[in-house]
Amino acid sequence: MVNEKNCPVCGASSFRTVREAPYFRGKKETFTIQECQQCKLWITNPRPDDDELGQYYESEDYVSHTDKRETLIDRIYHLVRNVAVKGKVKLINKYQPEKGSLLDYGAGTGFFLKAAKDNGWEVQGIEPSAEARKNAAKNHKLELIDPEKYDWTAQQKIDTITLWHVLEHLPNLKEHLRNFHSVLKVGGNLIIAVPNHESHDAIKYADNWAALDVPLHLYHFKKRNINDLANEFGFTVREIRNMPFDAFYVSMLSERIAKGKANYLQAIWTGMVSNLKAISSKNASSLIYILEKQ
Ligand SMILES: [Zn+2]
Repeated sequence: MVNEKNCPVCGASSFRTVREAPYFRGKKETFTIQECQQCKLWITNPRPDDDELGQYYESEDYVSHTDKRETLIDRIYHLVRNVAVKGKVKLINKYQPEKGSLLDYGAGTGFFLKAAKDNGWEVQGIEPSAEARKNAAKNHKLELIDPEKYDWTAQQKIDTITLWHVLEHLPNLKEHLRNFHSVLKVGGNLIIAVPNHESHDAIKYADNWAALDVPLHLYHFKKRNINDLANEFGFTVREIRNMPFDAFYVSMLSERIAKGKANYLQAIWTGMVSNLKAISSKNASSLIYILEKQ
């Protein structure tokens, strides 16, 4: 286990425990989440060593690597993903109508990248899971790159980098942000989607909120944390957007974690309340940050 003595964002050494969250994809285990008393970042601490983290992804539950469609929740995930992918392409086009080069970091099975490519973007994708890369090649004819083999110094400058629910998984957070900044063109966009533990559903489900997803999620960001990182690494925040679908999906999983069975009506209700509250609070279950390289 890795026990962080210092906050990976601000370096402070004072923490308090805020959650004791279950691992819900396999054998029963609980992980502690601590809040940095200076910058308020939440981190999973202690967490498994980097080389042990992989086994937590190997659960059959890790739907984003497999494209499987078995349970109702998986089917809903894929249905919503079809709609969500269109929204993501629309979003990158809004900030770069002339399109250009796109790097999707943590591309999964390449579903979004394929849609962007079909829309006229010149795409490359990085994905650590060999199984996901294989599925991307098979299903979408996309050759995703293993992050170990990606040379950040040799790249042509990129117009847009996207991380759809990926930043919270990355060890060496700052090294990644430095790399993203270095390969982006000035004025290029870094688009980051992450769960938001200040949402209604997050507060309601507390320890059982599925988007804590320990120990896969190493950090649990709120707006202030992303703002701090943007400032530190030379980005300005252009916009913060609510992601409307996540509250429903996350609430379904959270109901299952909390009560041992899926309670769809309750989850839909919680998702609706979360989205309605987010209209004014800008605290949806997940948020998208559009950062511009200065
Ligand atoms: Zn901190």
